[in-house]
Amino acid sequence: MPALQLERMNNSHVIPADCTPGTPGGYNALLGDDQAARDYLLGLTWPMGDPFCPRCGHRKVYTLSGERLRCASCKYTFQPFSGRWINSGALSPSEWLRLINLFVEEQSVHQMKKALNLSYNTVYKALTAIRFAILAHAIDARQLLSPATGLDSYIKGNRLTGGPREMRMDTIPVYGILRRDGMVFVDLVPGFQAETLFHFHMNFHLKLIRTGNLVYTDRYKEYHALMFCGNDSLPYEIIRRYDEPPHIDAIEDDFWQYAQSRIKKFRGISCQRFPLYMKELEFRFNNRDECLNEILAAYLCALVPSAE
Ligand SMILES: [Zn+2]
Repeated sequence: MPALQLERMNNSHVIPADCTPGTPGGYNALLGDDQAARDYLLGLTWPMGDPFCPRCGHRKVYTLSGERLRCASCKYTFQPFSGRWINSGALSPSEWLRLINLFVEEQSVHQMKKALNLSYNTVYKALTAIRFAILAHAIDARQLLSPATGLDSYIKGNRLTGGPREMRMDTIPVYGILRRDGMVFVDLVPGFQAETLFHFHMNFHLKLIRTGNLVYTDRYKEYHALMFCGNDSLPYEIIRRYDEPPHIDAIEDDFWQYAQSRIKKFRGISCQRFPLYMKELEFRFNNRDECLNEILAAYLCALVPSAE
């Protein structure tokens, strides 16, 4: 068997060849059929076919009335999508799959709301679940879902029900852009806050560039740039102006050009939600030749890590 085929079989989500919008069959056949969409999502929820307990992982599960299930080991009673990202939001299975398509196409919330005939808040909440699910699959997910970014405050138990925490100069986190073999990594830089970059700017002449609430730097160690998204509490007026562009603009980095055009469209991103958008861009860029729909459906069906 060719190596590529073997690798695909070992992969938990095999990418279907027919996921391009408009192609009959495959993913798109599920969009108008709620039962088929649900069966498809259950297949991603329990890839081995049998249900298991989302709390302890035990495989002996009893079926109760309705759609409820009970774990034989820890006695936890649950629904098929309990404890999973897809459980945050009031969408039907086929609405979720249609929303994923619209998200892949980078439609606006208003366009999605209209296409799905759902309220703005319902769409916005479901999009937040998609972005969290993407971030939770990044290699540095554990660091990102921690108090260092403040994203932990959105998760209560293993549900996406919390809200943002207030942020100031000494708590706004800093992210660095790393490039390796055509891939991009948007890293949380441990121990750095917005205050650190202002300090480096004032005392060590680290170049800072501001566009709106986005502040980024010249090259720093292995990072092409460091960056943060600020809020109105920051002393932007101390940022000096430069004639020479910073490193990442000078080298015309392809990820940065891709990201900047999109960051402009995310009007009014808060400093709290900024890592969600940056990890979305990292995901889109690194998977730009892949079919994203099925990857995202599988991510949504994954368990929410509990924020301890
Ligand atoms: Zn259990």
